[in-house]
Amino acid sequence: MSAHGKVATTGKIAYPEAIVIGGGLAGSEAAWQLARRNIRVKLYEMRPLKMTPAHHTGDLAELVCSNSLRSNSLQNAVGLLKEEMRRLGSLIMECADRTRVPAGSALAVDRQAFSRLVTQRIESCRNISLIREEVKDIPGDGDVPVIVAAGPLASEAIISAISNLVGVDYLYFYDAVAPIVTLESVDFSRCFWGSRYGKGGDDYVNCPMTEEEYNAFWEALVTAKTMETRPFEKLVVFEGCMPIEEMARRGREALRFGPLKPVGLVDPRTGKRPYAVVQLRKENDPCTLLNLVGFQTRLLWGEQKRVFRMIPGLENAEFTRYGVMHRNTFINSPRVLRPTLQLKARDSIFFAGQITGVEGYVESAASGLVAGVNAARFAAGNPPVVFPQETAHGALCHYICTADPEHFQPMNINFGLMPPVGGRIKEIDKKIKISDRALLALKKIEEIVLDGVAEIL
Ligand SMILES: Cc1cc2nc3c(=O)[nH]c(=O)nc-3n(C[C@H](O)[C@H](O)[C@H](O)COP(=O)(O)OP(=O)(O)OC[C@H]3O[C@@H](n4cnc5c(N)ncnc54)[C@H](O)[C@@H]3O)c2cc1C
Repeated sequence: MSAHGKVATTGKIAYPEAIVIGGGLAGSEAAWQLARRNIRVKLYEMRPLKMTPAHHTGDLAELVCSNSLRSNSLQNAVGLLKEEMRRLGSLIMECADRTRVPAGSALAVDRQAFSRLVTQRIESCRNISLIREEVKDIPGDGDVPVIVAAGPLASEAIISAISNLVGVDYLYFYDAVAPIVTLESVDFSRCFWGSRYGKGGDDYVNCPMTEEEYNAFWEALVTAKTMETRPFEKLVVFEGCMPIEEMARRGREALRFGPLKPVGLVDPRTGKRPYAVVQLRKENDPCTLLNLVGFQTRLLWGEQKRVFRMIPGLENAEFTRYGVMHRNTFINSPRVLRPTLQLKARDSIFFAGQITGVEGYVESAASGLVAGVNAARFAAGNPPVVFPQETAHGALCHYICTADPEHFQPMNINFGLMPPVGGRIKEIDKKIKISDRALLALKKIEEIVLDGVAEIL
């Protein structure tokens, strides 16, 4: 047996063990990946004994809101992520494909049939013991790998255990996310690089507004439709930082003295200070994505596209993430996690799902897959796999572990997280090239990722 894998014995059978906390999308996928590599898993799920504010059933992998797993196309990064998962034997993708309902090019599922099927597959898997219990401490003695996948609505007890592990400063309780656009889609004939008073060099893209443009934008913003606030999310809106539309409602000038203040900025095209300025900050390195500074919002996604495209320079902006404000428990992964999803401070502890700072059903399940693969390798005494950044799995893990820790906010998968492809080719061809490259890169590591998989469940 390995240097650090623990072996348990019953009768003649000897097997390494692992623990997974949380039977959501990430935890179910992680448990499955461990089990199919012949690791004996204890999967802890507190429902239905203790419910979260958003779940309604005791089923595993319950979809708490939409029944859509988004695009299925390889011209879309989430479609690519799903295809990679299929090729790596994902339980979540298999159950989603089997419970699919018609939804055009998206993959939508019959939500009850989907989570029932995941539950049945886990319950009937001989390598998994499903334990219906709230976990209050992070178990494990350093030999047994533990995957924490307690989700955005993790129970208070486990939150306190996580904060003891990672430090209270590195654990957050809500998203206040501003939209992100691709650098490529910004019209630089209408905006300019620079920092206030010239301090900080070309750190920001500045979108200058005339008085007329500002007034039209303000009108659209205060009358746009917003998302419904659920009771458990009220705290966020009233105690957290303020949504841009809420601030705008305080008066026509409020934004000009807030995030749209023009002070310290001169438009090189006019040589004058603009009436108002929207600033965009670099979101990643190399800079392919930009976030709209101070634009945390609860506007409906369609409304964000309509209203924020009124900003000069953003008329054709491609949004890779829309703004949201909701309850969400997540750790500061850039500070505490490695791209293998192991804690920097403790090799045997892995994190997976929304709690790592990935955003979305598919992204959560995909991170569960990576954590499951690496926890299995840990249990078997093998070194972990770092998925290449050219793959959607690798790009996601790379982002959460290398993003700016000071401004870390959860992220959906998108092509902007993957190394760009060069050449003067159409946008759509670039996406196809990135997907082809990803599947090729995945093929190269398939042997090592699928090492130890046994079809004996
Ligand atoms: C209200 C809300 C709506 C969302 N809507 C969408 C959407 O429409 N589309 C989308 O793509 N994403 C959505 N998300 C984001 C995210 O994709 C989902 O939350 C997703 O379920 C996250 O997967 P997960 O495995 O990380 O967490 P979960 O699926 O929540 O799984 C975590 C599991 O851990 C269990 N658990 C918690 N604490 C303990 C404990 N101490 N002991 C044992 N078990 C525990 C929970 O009961 C839960 O089953 C939404 C999030 C929220 C909060």
